[in-house]
Amino acid sequence: MSVERASSLAAEVASGRRTARRVLEEHLARISARDAELGAFNLVLADEARVRADAVDAAVAAGEPAGPLAGVPVALKDNLCTRGVLTTCSSRMLQHWRPPYDATVVQRLRAAGAVIVGKTNLDEFAMGSSTENSAFGPTRNPHDVSRVPGGSSGGSAAAVAAGFAPLALGSDTGGSIRQPAALCGVVGLKPTYGRVSRYGLVAFASSLDQIGPIAANVTDAAVCFEAIAGHDPLDSTSLDAAVEPVTSGLRRGVDGLRVGLLAELCGDSARVKQAGLQSAGLAGVAPDVIDRLDAAADALEAAGATVGVVSAPSVVLGLSAYYLIAPAEASSNLARYDGVRYGQRVDAADAAEMNTESRTAGFGAEVKRRIMLGTYALSAGYYDAYYGKALRVRTLMLREFAAAYADVDVLLCPTAPTTAFELGAKTADPLLMYLNDVCTIPSNLTGHPAVSVPFGTGDDGLPVGVQLMGPALSEPLLMRTAAVLEDAAPAMAPAPAGVAE
Ligand code: GLN
Repeated sequence: MSVERASSLAAEVASGRRTARRVLEEHLARISARDAELGAFNLVLADEARVRADAVDAAVAAGEPAGPLAGVPVALKDNLCTRGVLTTCSSRMLQHWRPPYDATVVQRLRAAGAVIVGKTNLDEFAMGSSTENSAFGPTRNPHDVSRVPGGSSGGSAAAVAAGFAPLALGSDTGGSIRQPAALCGVVGLKPTYGRVSRYGLVAFASSLDQIGPIAANVTDAAVCFEAIAGHDPLDSTSLDAAVEPVTSGLRRGVDGLRVGLLAELCGDSARVKQAGLQSAGLAGVAPDVIDRLDAAADALEAAGATVGVVSAPSVVLGLSAYYLIAPAEASSNLARYDGVRYGQRVDAADAAEMNTESRTAGFGAEVKRRIMLGTYALSAGYYDAYYGKALRVRTLMLREFAAAYADVDVLLCPTAPTTAFELGAKTADPLLMYLNDVCTIPSNLTGHPAVSVPFGTGDDGLPVGVQLMGPALSEPLLMRTAAVLEDAAPAMAPAPAGVAE
């Protein structure tokens, strides 16, 4: 199966050479052939998508401008609000909830001509790294169905890898766009905090959450980013700054660019050892992943970049800080699910008992764990010791990254410590599961952008992703560096198709 470029597909639809309806039917056929096995979608919106695709075709026929994503099927993570359409967060709590409004990103995608094909599975309320925390069952990795797709945007990453949609949106609080993109062999971009409106994204940890694209290639991710980025008065944390064009400079290359391997996340890399900084490195990144990373560094060097090694010691504290800040914010954000205003209610003798019963029945184990951890971290007597300390780590990290970016333009490190693991391998041990996020969390804490690009396969033949991080608003630079890596990456077999093509 070949995944078509969203941008060329849109050009064909806009010129009338191919209809949006036909493009949609091809993708719907792939979904019917294989999604029963993969479980990428919570909901496929076939009828709504057909109406929309026909409207795109009618606009093209009438000579109206069709948009950069004309007729491109897009899958939405099921924590993005769609007006009148179920938005469940893969939680029993919201399993019947239909939002009365569309997320800003959904409106922007439609304005760009996209066709929403469905809502994708996730870890409940985006809490997890494997999509096994979904109340509706796990999603499986299209490259090997015994493996997880990563998470929490596992449904979106699997949908793109399986060719169900050329593009998907995910949300990334601690890595949930980039880690599943890496494990499924696709591209995932977490934009700068505030660059993409969070209006209509069901909140997990509001100071970390950011929406971004998952795509089969760097160009498509860039096109999608341009369609959804930009100021939105409906999100008070939205940045009121012009969006620098990304696609127009994508092929400018990396000649003269200064790249830094982040020692703390690449301890076993030959370059880090040579620099004498391996002791800074966190244990746990698999040798085959480090090997691919070194090859990616070589590729950037061959393309004209200089590659050095940079240290940011607070990175080793990132995981601990994140697992205080994110649950603290989640415990506050999820207080709204009280059995009255949203979702599921279990009736009981009085209001307090109704509240407890509703939350007990509505939330899964991981969500309850986070609410308890977060409530504890914020409670009187512990606030300074836990939450306050985590905030200080965050400030320290911002300073260290600012210093690093005085010496280098972008940082390079793995996206995830391993390739996709077996379903069930980490479900019994939450700490083991949290370790998946060690490489992705720093850019959520700093609010900086980061992108995961496929770079070959591990010893098990499964995709490896490498991660590029940059300072705030460096998306154009990150994406053009990602384009160089994409061109240099060893060929990877696509995921098997469910239909003969
Ligand atoms: N895996 C991380 C967590 O469970 C990140 C989740 C996310 O980015 N939404 O918190």
